[in-house]
Amino acid sequence: MDVTVVVPLYNEEESLRELHDWIKRVMDENGLTYEVIFVNDGSTDNSWQVLQDMQKEYPEVHAIRFRRNYGKSPALYCGFERAQGDVVITMDADLQDSPDEIPELRRMIVEDGYDLVSGYKMNRKQGDPLSKTIPTKLFNATARKVSGIHNLHDFNCGLKAYRKEVVKHIEVFGEMHRYIPYLAKEAGFSRIGEKRVHHQARKHGKSKFMGWNRFVNGYLDLLTLWFLSTFGKKPMHVFGFLGTLMFLLGFISVCIVGGNKLVCLMQGVPHPLVTSSPYFYIALTMMLLGTQLFLTGFLGELVSRNSQERNKYQIAEEF
Ligand code: UDP
Ligand code: MG
Repeated sequence: MDVTVVVPLYNEEESLRELHDWIKRVMDENGLTYEVIFVNDGSTDNSWQVLQDMQKEYPEVHAIRFRRNYGKSPALYCGFERAQGDVVITMDADLQDSPDEIPELRRMIVEDGYDLVSGYKMNRKQGDPLSKTIPTKLFNATARKVSGIHNLHDFNCGLKAYRKEVVKHIEVFGEMHRYIPYLAKEAGFSRIGEKRVHHQARKHGKSKFMGWNRFVNGYLDLLTLWFLSTFGKKPMHVFGFLGTLMFLLGFISVCIVGGNKLVCLMQGVPHPLVTSSPYFYIALTMMLLGTQLFLTGFLGELVSRNSQERNKYQIAEEF
């Protein structure tokens, strides 16, 4: 099979048929064998009914139904698990992404040798308000910096193409769908490209991601990913380092306080109490913090040693 299209959807009943017909037309015109996996993420409208009807007509339509709304990442994860095509395309259900882009995205994977090609939404002004586009720019700049994938402009684009291997070796969870290129890179798939794609205004329904908290959460997720990828397997390296630093500062302060006291004692001059020196408090805080950080590091090591993922490595090939 050439292509699997994975479509996560949440209350998109009006768009599903049109989307499917469009995908089918493009696939037939290009002579590609394909399947479409719709992942119904706990929709409360008629989406599931529509999908069932479609499956009766078209055997290449598959669908997964979540009992409740888990989010886009879990939906993608389950779609990826079942995907069989050599190239896997993800696409939003709201008709904002154009299926016409599929053949070229596939060509970039198959012929140009990319592992992942991300869409870069052009002309998005029509659809989205400024309050969405400006934070998006900021978000992408940060994501580029942290992930080290400097050639991507649009991490969050729903339209992406993957070599099958890639989706089988990454684990999208929580709300990490925004950082799939980062996850792919961490898994060792470094040929990541970008293609400008057409993007239209939403025709039916409204956006399922609203409000500012998605940006706060987005940044926190990025922080988590960065931490996991740099220190996840060796927490002591960060906590131990910070702990040592604190301890050292504390130790220097102790030397200053103690030294001062000793010198005064030996010279027989009147000496103030150690508690009246600011260094006493610095020493106290730093030593406490240092110990805490060390303990955190040890706990982190214990946790990671017991984790099921401790020996999960990416093996590209085997004989
Ligand atoms: N979606 C989903 N589960 C959710 C929220 C959204 O499967 O909890 C789907 C939604 O149906 C759509 C895609 O994810 O197919 C992108 O959502 P949306 O178009 O609302 O996001 P936006 O384009 O506004 O960023
Ligand atoms: Mg959308």
